[in-house]
Amino acid sequence: MTDILCYEDSYLKTFDATIAAVVGRGVVLDRTAFYPGGGGQPPDSGTLSDGSDEYTVKRVRRASGQYVHEIEGGERPEVGACVRGSIDWERRYQLMRTHTALHILCGVVWRDYGAQVTGGNMEPLRARMDFELESMSADFAERVEELINAEVAAERDVVVGILPREEAFRIPDLIRTKINLLPPQISEVRTIDIRGLDLQADGGTHVANTREVGRIRVTGHESKGRINKRLRIAVDH
Ligand SMILES: [Zn+2]
Repeated sequence: MTDILCYEDSYLKTFDATIAAVVGRGVVLDRTAFYPGGGGQPPDSGTLSDGSDEYTVKRVRRASGQYVHEIEGGERPEVGACVRGSIDWERRYQLMRTHTALHILCGVVWRDYGAQVTGGNMEPLRARMDFELESMSADFAERVEELINAEVAAERDVVVGILPREEAFRIPDLIRTKINLLPPQISEVRTIDIRGLDLQADGGTHVANTREVGRIRVTGHESKGRINKRLRIAVDH
């Protein structure tokens, strides 16, 4: 099973690994800093180099319980070869800032309006999130923009935690992010804690402090049904 290094250190940009398996035009590594995707955050891209050949990693995908780095270029890689991986850091850091911005958004909307999240998605510097809300207006969107930027200005630390499943179930706020949907074989729950604002079960990569997110703009609001409303945000470059 691949050791996913970015779950513990989201700022790791390069790493050394060994090719554990070759699957078509992809490789499985013993360890990787490439984020495999999930929770609305797309997988990383980047490069792998074995000293003589360089491969472009288009993305990482899950296949039969394995994390396959889909590669292009270079000669055919060999099992057992040592490689140095580099993730496309500019893109990933934008995704980290965007992902944390979304958690700020859902933390604020939950704290001040009691509304749960029903869905969301992100690309670098742009994201959308759907809430269980009956009404939505330009005034609301404007107010939310003020509130989320106040949380950026508050410079809150963002801390990764690992909780035993039983302990995680005892935190009422975590239930709202539906950890009860976790498969029974999962014994630990990874959490992202924006100190003083929002605690969630989450697998994504985040910045270490909300100030790194920078200015967030609410760029759109729309109704997706009677009790489903969408907000769109953009994070400044
Ligand atoms: Zn998340």
